[in-house]
Amino acid sequence: MEEGARARELDVAVRVVQMACSLCQRVQSGLVGRNREQIKVKEDDSPVTVADWGVQAVVSLLLSECFGGENVSILAEEDAHTLSRKDATTLLESVISTVNECLSEAPKYGLKCPPKHLGAQDILDAINSCNSSGGSKGRFWVLDPVDGTLGFVRGDQYAVALALIEDGEVILGVLGCPNYPMKKEWLNYHQRYYRLMTTLSPPSGSWHKGCVMYACKGSGEAWMQPLVHDFGEYDQQSSARMIRVSSISDPAFATFCEPVEKANSSHSFTAGLAHNVGLRKQPLRVHSMVKYAAIARGDAEIFMKFARAGYKEKIWDHAAGLVIIQEAGGVVTDAGGHPLDFSKGIYLEGLNRGIIACSGPLLHEKIINAVDASWDSSNL
Ligand SMILES: [Mg+2]
Repeated sequence: MEEGARARELDVAVRVVQMACSLCQRVQSGLVGRNREQIKVKEDDSPVTVADWGVQAVVSLLLSECFGGENVSILAEEDAHTLSRKDATTLLESVISTVNECLSEAPKYGLKCPPKHLGAQDILDAINSCNSSGGSKGRFWVLDPVDGTLGFVRGDQYAVALALIEDGEVILGVLGCPNYPMKKEWLNYHQRYYRLMTTLSPPSGSWHKGCVMYACKGSGEAWMQPLVHDFGEYDQQSSARMIRVSSISDPAFATFCEPVEKANSSHSFTAGLAHNVGLRKQPLRVHSMVKYAAIARGDAEIFMKFARAGYKEKIWDHAAGLVIIQEAGGVVTDAGGHPLDFSKGIYLEGLNRGIIACSGPLLHEKIINAVDASWDSSNL
């Protein structure tokens, strides 16, 4: 694949994620505190909303529009089963209007929108056409339309994650973090006041702005730009800035991130491990792939996730974050120090115990050694 084509893919992917973030923000501000009936629960008990389906439809339609439908293969988290049911007509109508509203803004983002108003079947088809099963050959996009839906419905952190995989390797990743401000110092303020502020007045100023991070494999660069949403035209050149991981390699000064949800991970093991390795700072507990964003940008140094027995990690939860951290100078492996394997379908097969993402190789090695030392005494 020549460089120009890769650059165009990245450019389109960033614009698409910007649009997806604006869709999410609109849905989230309507969800918090009301419209609870618009939140459905999936078989694994995780919530799903208009935004999950809406983003998947929008990404599917826009990528097809930009690259030609026959060239676009997408592996994504959602399908349209629930939406196609007879008792889901209100929900489906919300998705249809949300998607059409979002697509009508495509010109603002420098993208073409589909030429007509889309109906139910168009939307269901767009969602269902994301039916790639991945694998080790060829190219496919990987999408988590809303990563961290639990955070999303609480008005908290979540991410839109889009990556491109070629022959089993993640070659580009885009992470939209609508509630993760451009500066770390704004994070506490943001989290505490977000709900209050958005109910009192429409967003204004810059403290609340989220960001989009992105990187191409092998470029040695990762970038961040603010969300466009209500603030004028898309202008990548003037607003993007390069991001780097933190240079801290002493665990005593490092901050680690861990998942908020207890269901899929073991907090006690990570807490014990953090103590053993000499981590003294409070962990940063954020929902979703925003943890990858935090490390890529130098807000934290370590992310560890150890799944409970029986839980298998899916590729859409890690692909985009992985390449962004790597190009920002960090290291992501399983707990055995091996690269994550994106070539085996929807799951990260053969994962050794868990995932370790670090701001650099020195810290990474210390954590891997500590995992080995602590593992036998744990009962995971
Ligand atoms: Mg999701």
